[in-house]
Amino acid sequence: MTSSSSKKDIRVISIKEIKEFMINNNEKPFRAKQVYEWLWKNSAVSFEEMTNLSKKTRELLNSNFVINSIKINSQQKSKDGTIKIAFGLFDGNVVEGVLIPSSDRVTACISSQVGCALACKFCATGQFGFIRNLNFDEIYDQVVIISKTALDNYKIPLSNIVYMGMGEPMLNYKNVMKSVEIITSADGLAMSPQRITVSTVGIAAKIKQLGDDNVKFNLALSLHTANNKKRNSILPVNEQNSIKKLIEALKYFHSKTNKRITIEYILFKNINDSLSDAKELADFCKNFPVKINIIEYNTVEGSGFSKADNEKMNEFADFMKSKNLIVNIRKSRGKDIDAACGQLANR
Ligand code: SF4
Repeated sequence: MTSSSSKKDIRVISIKEIKEFMINNNEKPFRAKQVYEWLWKNSAVSFEEMTNLSKKTRELLNSNFVINSIKINSQQKSKDGTIKIAFGLFDGNVVEGVLIPSSDRVTACISSQVGCALACKFCATGQFGFIRNLNFDEIYDQVVIISKTALDNYKIPLSNIVYMGMGEPMLNYKNVMKSVEIITSADGLAMSPQRITVSTVGIAAKIKQLGDDNVKFNLALSLHTANNKKRNSILPVNEQNSIKKLIEALKYFHSKTNKRITIEYILFKNINDSLSDAKELADFCKNFPVKINIIEYNTVEGSGFSKADNEKMNEFADFMKSKNLIVNIRKSRGKDIDAACGQLANR
């Protein structure tokens, strides 16, 4: 399905272009700033809401533009408080975002693509293939809606954002960067980039580009094994982005940004949970400052992967700690509503 309107989405044009439009239509140029604030700071979903503009100006905008905001199609709340939201896009596609409350923070996990082309073997999203990239305003809207959901449900503002939902953010680089720009801008949500983490499964060239762009947000690598052969079999993306290439790219990223890298490691039973896997991970982590998140897996039907035993999980974490590495065990959240890592697939 395509957009029912041939009008342009006003949020994809710059404030400068809105200004030009105003001037060409005999409107005062300062109206552009008012419109821009309504669009981003106030997240207006219609021109009617822009009450400091005259009716005539609102009608002018309405007959030339649309606002392709996303909407909530459905919402599910887990026993542990996690809330999964299915977002409807203007073209009928659906992506998912998750609100994860914990004792000291509320995190929004957001999507960057409709589907995903990378087909990681354990992932529900990857099983459905790639449909399209999300535009930056569609990424931004997820944050705005999840932020409002946090206030409505828990009376606390959103504290963190992770780009860890559907899709590979580095394969939608431009829109991801632009969405961060607006989330952190005073014209948008004015959030600190320190509270944002972009997670990649490891696209070496793009990790280097992040370094060149000297990003201020955090980078997480979904590594899951530091053994090249094993990684090829679990994450097909590794065939072009080997462990060696990733080390080189992450060293470069660190040299440019001086940032600690988060390593995400889902522990799968009898696949990557042995002591020799832990040793390989420790060797990988010697190359740059890291923080390791060991993540409990949630079984995805038909994937052939299962969750490692708790005992193995603790042994694995203890080994990492014995190497003076920072390790956190992340128990899975929202399992009962398929909101956990690797489970987002519009079910
Ligand atoms: S884990 Fe991430 S990169 Fe891999 S298939 Fe799933 S969504 Fe894509």
